[in-house]
Amino acid sequence: MESFGHVIGGEEVESRDGATFESVDPWERTGWATVALGSPADADRAVAAARAAFDNGPWPRLSLAERGRILHRLADLVEANAVELATADTTDMGKPIRETLGHDVPRAAQNLRFFADHSTVTAAESFPMATGHHAYTQYDPAGVVAAIVPWNFPLMMATWKVAPALAWGNTVVLKPAEQSPASATLLARLALAAGLPPGVLNVVHGYGPGSVGQALTESPQVDRITFTGETTTGRAISRAAAENLTPVSLELGGKGANIVFDDCDIDRAVHWSIRAIFSNSGQVCLAGSRLYVQRGVLDTFLRRFTEAAQRLVIGNPKERSTELGPLSSEEHFRKVAGYLDIAAADGARVHTGGVGDGWTIRPTIVVGAGQRARITQEEVFGPVVVVLPFDDEQEAVAAANDTPYGLNAMLFTRDLSRAHRVSRALRVGTVWTNCFFVRDLRAPFGGAKNSGVGREGGVFSRDFFTEPKAVVMEIADA
Ligand code: NAD
Repeated sequence: MESFGHVIGGEEVESRDGATFESVDPWERTGWATVALGSPADADRAVAAARAAFDNGPWPRLSLAERGRILHRLADLVEANAVELATADTTDMGKPIRETLGHDVPRAAQNLRFFADHSTVTAAESFPMATGHHAYTQYDPAGVVAAIVPWNFPLMMATWKVAPALAWGNTVVLKPAEQSPASATLLARLALAAGLPPGVLNVVHGYGPGSVGQALTESPQVDRITFTGETTTGRAISRAAAENLTPVSLELGGKGANIVFDDCDIDRAVHWSIRAIFSNSGQVCLAGSRLYVQRGVLDTFLRRFTEAAQRLVIGNPKERSTELGPLSSEEHFRKVAGYLDIAAADGARVHTGGVGDGWTIRPTIVVGAGQRARITQEEVFGPVVVVLPFDDEQEAVAAANDTPYGLNAMLFTRDLSRAHRVSRALRVGTVWTNCFFVRDLRAPFGGAKNSGVGREGGVFSRDFFTEPKAVVMEIADA
């Protein structure tokens, strides 16, 4: 068994009471690592370390360039230790190694490098005034940041929050999900090796309600809370944060609509629609889990989409050929499997797929569901897509907008005007046309409606992780 502690004030430590839990490998279905199980007292200890490092330590006082150099060193170490980091996430939550090693770890390094550089070129804004005054914006670090992340992109999501927070001079307490704790401790070990001062990046393991997560969100010593996870958890965190008026950034659930128009390039639509729902076994907030197909291409599209889904390789996530691993945990597997029964009870039918061996679910296509069916409305978070036909653009837009979520949508068409028109009409945070998951880290990322509050990325992260201050000076006549 491997072992992972909290990292607090520059030391890897056990919980105050010595408590631990086991992280379970969902492919082997056995425990593989012993992890420190934090309590609210450990969360307080981590916050105190971050507070001291912010109030008295060098980090917030370094220049953007000096902090950037250390973050680039950390990115170098992430790249040098890619196999260990990728294997940790794959073992913790079953994501195929081709995704953790091929996407998540490179993206983690990119997150660190991007925010290290971006902060140095976006720190200045000045407003020469006609009145003989001069105003400018000073981006002061906000203070102590609590970063609470989910299990579906453990390292990638941690760095998405930690990188901008650190680049702008904050100190951080990172709480990984209890299902995927390992890579957070590995990241904190590498951060110390890269020269991050003690207490600047702390990691504390544990659960949410009544545990570490809740304690972080209730702490008056925390200045910002950035959270990614379920919509219901986002509500609980918002309520806790309201007590101290702590600003929150919430990236929540989704029910991505994927609209295939009859004038599209079908090859491209099939390729991206497969990626959109079956990558990471559909355990992706951005998953294209509702597939609206225009009636003229329904038969052709569905046949080719089905063939492609059936060709996907399910198996041991540590093998390079595997495209779908197990779901992240037994509990989550049961939840997703339960949705197949819920769909059937609502009159829908599994066209292909269903429950596989162990905790796997085969790529599953559901047909015959209505717009109001639970399988169409609720986030399943598994490799399950519901296919619904439509006749015209207006109907497609109305259906796409008709869930409580608003994270993202995809559309496939060759008609440029339609692409712009539909993008404008969709109430979501991101629209992808003829592609999926392509990110420019300068662009806003977040959700409309129940999919989130606020945006991260580029200057949006800057504005959240700083306290922008207006400085106004009079320029006296000589
Ligand atoms: P979750 O909400 O159950 O847990 C996320 C994190 O919050 C974990 O670290 C957990 O321990 C912690 N937590 C739980 N209750 C808490 C509380 N009361 N106070 C403080 N912390 C608490 O989510 P999950 O199951 O780990 O992740 C899946 C969800 O995340 C899906 O809904 C998915 O759509 C969403 N997600 C959203 C995005 C996005 O960018 N919008 C990205 C990835 C995942």
